[in-house]
Amino acid sequence: MRVGTVREIKNHEYRVGLTPESACELVAHGHEVWVETGAGLGIGASDRDYEAQGATIKADAATIFDSCEMVVKVKEPQPAERARLREGQVLYTYLHLAPDPEQTADLVKSGVTAIAYETVTGPGGALPLLKPMSQVAGRMSIQAGATALEKAHGGRGVLLGGVPGVMPGKVVVIGGGVVGFNAAQMAVGLGADVTILDRSPDALERLGIHFESRAKTRFSSKANLADSVADADLVIGAVLIPGAAAPKLVSRPMLSTMKPGAVLVDVAIDQGGCFETSHATTHDNPTFVVDGIVHYCVANMPGAVARTSTYALNNVTLPHALAIADKGWQQALRDDPHLAEGLNVHAGKVTYEAVAADLGYDY
Ligand code: NAD
Repeated sequence: MRVGTVREIKNHEYRVGLTPESACELVAHGHEVWVETGAGLGIGASDRDYEAQGATIKADAATIFDSCEMVVKVKEPQPAERARLREGQVLYTYLHLAPDPEQTADLVKSGVTAIAYETVTGPGGALPLLKPMSQVAGRMSIQAGATALEKAHGGRGVLLGGVPGVMPGKVVVIGGGVVGFNAAQMAVGLGADVTILDRSPDALERLGIHFESRAKTRFSSKANLADSVADADLVIGAVLIPGAAAPKLVSRPMLSTMKPGAVLVDVAIDQGGCFETSHATTHDNPTFVVDGIVHYCVANMPGAVARTSTYALNNVTLPHALAIADKGWQQALRDDPHLAEGLNVHAGKVTYEAVAADLGYDY
């Protein structure tokens, strides 16, 4: 199969669908890989790096959309890209169609076969193609919070690990899922005093077994949460209620109980945020202060570490890309019911029930 990847054109998107190493694997399986010139620059991969792995560089995205049987991307296709999609072609990328009727209509009209990363499942209902981005955001949240705690950034001037003779900073992680676990790992690694709150007994048990005495776990009742937040230097908001907006767990009046210059990092901002005073920010201007408390609420945290994020994403997307290229998409989906969950649009029809229901398509 001829597989292509293009330079992402969405604002501030530096990741790329295929790394040179992924191109190498596809070539080793006997496929042709076409890459738009400059596609890898955002992750530090040059055209020569791709060529060294057997890929062919093309001057523009149009050639790739027009001639490749599968296009592997990161973000949903932008209008100019959608205009080039066609029947018989596979598009494999993040799509997030439910809140995006215009994109959905364009994909339906094009006839393309669109497989969305975010709906591919794993054993136990997991979403393995979303997980690496939660891992990245969780780990970054401590880095971002530690920076915001510095005086020059409005913080209270606390070094999370302390130094010999000075107590470490107190980190409170609300939500002990993928983001929270990774945040706690980083905070523990820095030597901070770490408490993780969750409402799920299973999550609390898993965290307790993993961290033993290196982090405390606490049931996320209203009273426990208020007590932990009041005492924290850094609070990480990492809750998720599947299919719902994030619950507002820290109210504005609670800010006045916190230490001036303490920091809130709202990783759940992409689901509306779990602090009442949060609003989405960008990497250009990531923080703002409310009632003396520094807020960091960047909605696409993984974009700042495009190289790590791209490699993490390719680790989970490549095996499916290889299966699709090797067997053809129909056989690959028949062989793997988890990959089949990724099919969102095919031959002019919405093929994913939740998207069809939300946007009023027949299913
Ligand atoms: P997850 O499902 O793995 O974990 C969520 C956890 O929250 C679960 O353990 C759940 O029990 C817990 N929880 C639910 N209600 C709670 C409450 N009231 N108190 C305490 N804990 C509670 O989800 P995840 O992958 O860790 O994602 C967490 C959030 O981070 C999501 O909103 C996700 O969209 C977001 N996210 C944001 C970015 C970004 O760039 N900002 C990147 C990746 C993920």
